[in-house]
Amino acid sequence: HDYSKDDIRRIVKEEDVKFLRLMFTDVLGTLKNVEVPISQLDDLLDNKLMFDGSSIEGFVRIEESDMYLHPDLSTWMIFPWSSERGKIARVICEVYKTNGEPFEGDPRNNLIRVLKDMKDAGYTSFNIGPEPEFFLFKMDENGKPTTKLNDHGSYFDMAPLDLGGNCRRDIVLTLEEMGFDVEAAHHEVAPGQHEIDFKYADALNAADNIQTFKLVVKTVARKHGLYATFMPKPLSGINGSGMHLNMSLFNNDGDAFYDKDGELQLSETAYHFLGGLMKHAKSYTAICNPIVNSYKRLVPGYEAPVYVAWSGSNRSPLIRVPNARGLATRLELRSADPTANPYMAIASVLEAGLDGLRNEIVPPKSVDRNIYHMNAQERKDNQIVNLPDDLLDGLKELSSDKTMKHALGEKIFNSFLAAKHLEYDAYRAQVSEWERDQYMEQY
Ligand code: ADP
Ligand code: MG
Ligand code: MG
Ligand code: MG
Ligand code: MG
Repeated sequence: HDYSKDDIRRIVKEEDVKFLRLMFTDVLGTLKNVEVPISQLDDLLDNKLMFDGSSIEGFVRIEESDMYLHPDLSTWMIFPWSSERGKIARVICEVYKTNGEPFEGDPRNNLIRVLKDMKDAGYTSFNIGPEPEFFLFKMDENGKPTTKLNDHGSYFDMAPLDLGGNCRRDIVLTLEEMGFDVEAAHHEVAPGQHEIDFKYADALNAADNIQTFKLVVKTVARKHGLYATFMPKPLSGINGSGMHLNMSLFNNDGDAFYDKDGELQLSETAYHFLGGLMKHAKSYTAICNPIVNSYKRLVPGYEAPVYVAWSGSNRSPLIRVPNARGLATRLELRSADPTANPYMAIASVLEAGLDGLRNEIVPPKSVDRNIYHMNAQERKDNQIVNLPDDLLDGLKELSSDKTMKHALGEKIFNSFLAAKHLEYDAYRAQVSEWERDQYMEQY
């Protein structure tokens, strides 16, 4: 929606909105809220609302602690769930410095910057269709998640096995009330696991939608007494949760990846973009799979990718070309998971693709055989390399890639790497149950 300031003032009166929730996302992908009473509306609309950014990841320098929030009025929305104390509206904000410049540590500002490069290259939009998956767990009496799943259903199961169905339907209805165009919602392969797909949107809206989506899923699940988690691999031995990213570039003629006369009906643009995605795959993995646990999903045997390869016919490689053509011509990145900061993930895959376009990078041949049936030599002969196998490996790949540094900007690049090294070090210092089970009696 294109709301003016006056529209907002009118809606606030008509709907009797009592609180404003001002949202932005930090480098770790966490949605941050600054909640203010409606008396602050005029300051907000005049870009005069300040907050202290010093405690927020990626916002750390003391001299930058005072920041302004500039609302993006097109993201205005009243939450459909009611509070006893009155309606709450949210608006997503851009973080600005006191000198009036956009703050470089704000991942949303950064995506806006990268999208300018895309426009300069002659494209009108980078479209993203995400497929987020999540688990529903039972909660304990303190509202904490347990590891008890709420059902034993599996892919496309129908009630009564799919007990999460009611909750999922409520999520879908709430999303629709909030303006989402939900295309599909189904039980996933693992028990307790669900997927909800909503229509693709241009990069910035898609990233905003992903953040809103996660909030809605968690909020509605709680009403059903369930805990929704986007942790990629909450339980070993069953599939983890990913968030495939479907992507395409549009120009004034439509989908620039489509060419009815091209090989596989894909354009040269599609192949070069794919070339860039393949070239930088190992380096954007740390962005698209940013937590220690992400790498427990990227293992053989659970439908998640492990090797860098693409295919137009096989469903299992890192990058798949779905069958649809015309305006649905797209590339699907299957590694990403829902813990990725969507603004950073989208900026990094876009920049990888743009690098492919600028340098006319030709992708390696497609791999249409099942890679999991190949031995190491066959993979080598087909130029198939592994994705990073843990966060540390991913961080090494990321830190040496100049294109990714450009994609994130120096500030985010550095604070992300610093924060993630700390996270990895903390993990490495822990001794797990598996180790005790494995070694205590053996040695
Ligand atoms: P899958 O077959 O991998 O399960 P889904 O049907 O679940 O795929 O999801 C497809 C996603 O791709 C949807 O979000 C859809 O809106 C999106 N999509 C369709 N066309 C495009 C396009 N041109 N660019 C980006 N995303 C697209
Ligand atoms: Mg799907
Ligand atoms: Mg589908
Ligand atoms: Mg799925
Ligand atoms: Mg998919």
